[in-house]
Amino acid sequence: MKHKRDEYVQMSRLGLSINRHDMQPAEVEAYYICDSCGEEIVVPVDVTEGLHQDYVEDCPICCNPMVLHVDIAEDGQPLITSEHE
Ligand SMILES: [Zn+2]
Repeated sequence: MKHKRDEYVQMSRLGLSINRHDMQPAEVEAYYICDSCGEEIVVPVDVTEGLHQDYVEDCPICCNPMVLHVDIAEDGQPLITSEHE
């Protein structure tokens, strides 16, 4: 019983700290230039997922899959470099 109660306290502390960061959105917009069609693609980046993120996303213009490398800078601004899969 005591263990469960400790877990609950930890969870509510977590909730409080999340609420405190309401002013900072978890998602920020970043953009990359598609290699295939040259269009500027704006994508939402979830900065809570980590400072370095790699994922594949299909270009919404030409539908070619692009590998996106996301780096979150110290000021919270994401920088995306893209390459062909
Ligand atoms: Zn494209």
